[in-house]
Amino acid sequence: MSFPIHKTEQEWQAELQAKGAEPAAFQVTRHAATERPFTGRYEQFWADGSYHCICCGAKLFDSDTKFDAGCGWPSFDRAIPGAITEIVDRSHGMVRTETVCSQCGAHLGHVFPDGPSDTGLRYCMNSASLEFEPPKA
Ligand SMILES: [Zn+2]
Repeated sequence: MSFPIHKTEQEWQAELQAKGAEPAAFQVTRHAATERPFTGRYEQFWADGSYHCICCGAKLFDSDTKFDAGCGWPSFDRAIPGAITEIVDRSHGMVRTETVCSQCGAHLGHVFPDGPSDTGLRYCMNSASLEFEPPKA
């Protein structure tokens, strides 16, 4: 799969470091690692604003779609249309739906069909993949 934004591993690493991303951000976004639950900076974070891809800045979620799923990762019931690309993930002996940034291919987390709201979806994201932005004044 190819994405509009392409950079080398070294370039992503430098960029994430320059942005002050969480230490796990590179492994999570470029190597599909999963941060430990209940450790991410946005797991219990409820300010108004929007969540963007830590790698390329694309807007992924609005804060009013965020809910507490109790699973230890930031969870959302709706993504910005077109912002996220879904990929079937058969790793770890499960069939899951991986979610990646449509612009740069950054691994974000997984989406599950067991959400509590009318969308029926639960986007289970890594904090390390996200960058919060307060609303523009
Ligand atoms: Zn991105």
